[in-house]
Amino acid sequence: MSSKAIGILGGTFDPIHFGHLRLAEEMLELANLRQIRFIPAGIPPHRNAPQVSAQHRSAMVRLAITDQPAFVLDEREVERTVPCYTVDTLRELRAELGAAQPLCLLMGGDAFLQLHTWHEWEQLFGLAHIVVGYRPGFTLEERIHGATAELQRHYQQRLCAANALSQQPCGGVTELAIPQLEISATDIRRRVAEGRTIRYLLPDAVADYIHQHQLYIPC
Ligand code: ATP
Repeated sequence: MSSKAIGILGGTFDPIHFGHLRLAEEMLELANLRQIRFIPAGIPPHRNAPQVSAQHRSAMVRLAITDQPAFVLDEREVERTVPCYTVDTLRELRAELGAAQPLCLLMGGDAFLQLHTWHEWEQLFGLAHIVVGYRPGFTLEERIHGATAELQRHYQQRLCAANALSQQPCGGVTELAIPQLEISATDIRRRVAEGRTIRYLLPDAVADYIHQHQLYIPC
């Protein structure tokens, strides 16, 4: 069996920016993925409510990815009315795409080191590979010693090379060195609220959408 893996990138995307898009583009190439599904969170269980509606965040993702045919918007979490967990989304995707399709859950090193706090976290390995992007110079190998013993055990047993991801449907952990752009949605929201420029931090179409719909402006 060997079918190119599908990547899954969840986030609040409040709003989507070039940090997300570069992360996805690098992972697409380095992990040799067939597609990346962007899944905006509806009501995220773990963090404060996003500032703008799921429909607006989803519309901005759609605008941001139009030029890259390998990027796909998946609105399943946005359509839910109750908070949902990554493990539930992966179960749905696994049921739709079949047992043999390699799936890769994409995340940053900081998120991986907190994985043990996720709902039913050990089930994730039975549903997808985990592909971790780390900033060059900040390898997971050096930082994993601060993680829980259980997470360290999974990491050590599951570590595999990117070219092995398409050989199995799930269960591996791969690290990829990805330069991180110093862009955050928090900073973009603050800039809009202060009437400052956001050009070159995110696609023009997304900036236009924000201004058109007067998003992130305090009432
Ligand atoms: P906020 O500032 O509101 O916390 P954010 O910009 O971090 O938001 P999220 O939607 O929370 O964006 O991020 C989704 C995913 O993208 C996460 O896995 C996060 O680690 C990653 N990510 C966010 N910003 C960057 C960036 N500049 N470079 C690489 N990855 C990023």
